[in-house]
Amino acid sequence: MTEIVPEVLISEEQIRNKVAELGGRISADYTDVDDLILVGILKGSFIFLADLARELTIPRSVDFMALSTYGDSESTDTDGAVRMIMDLRRNITGKHVIVVEDIVDTGYTLSYLLRNLAARQPASLKTCVLVEKPERREVFTQIDYLGFSIPDVWVVGCGLDWAERFRTLPYIGVVRPED
Ligand code: 5GP
Repeated sequence: MTEIVPEVLISEEQIRNKVAELGGRISADYTDVDDLILVGILKGSFIFLADLARELTIPRSVDFMALSTYGDSESTDTDGAVRMIMDLRRNITGKHVIVVEDIVDTGYTLSYLLRNLAARQPASLKTCVLVEKPERREVFTQIDYLGFSIPDVWVVGCGLDWAERFRTLPYIGVVRPED
């Protein structure tokens, strides 16, 4: 396998600062909440969720969902079909919930999740997203806490993969199709 080094788009330090900022904002906004549930979407969100959860100064717990993917790491852009393959362990009815996502591209995944979770009648439902690609958006998606807006490139690192590679890179890098 050839050695590919993704080009840095967002540095480790920029990510660390942004996660601390997001953690501060969420802690301030939920100061009166005694059990905030962070819902991570596997696999991509596991690193961002772990970093974010440790920046919070309020009581919080974590839970996970997994959704079907197409191929190794393709976007859902062909038809927007999303399927749940692992549900939450906890009942979120009456609870304050933040969905933590690594990336929003077309928006289909997050809008599916929000519809699915809203039907369970949480006390509140918000979203925290590490990166989004505004140029690629096809459906409106509510993003309450955003890390970075990026151009239409394939990014890896911080939980994001390219055919299961590069998830644990400490920065967000770009891989080009010809790599
Ligand atoms: P959606 O198009 O539904 O907003 O996003 C679908 C999924 O496509 C994301 O959850 C993510 O798994 C994947 N995806 C979209 N763009 C990228 C990217 O630049 N890098 C990686 N690793 N995954 C992406």
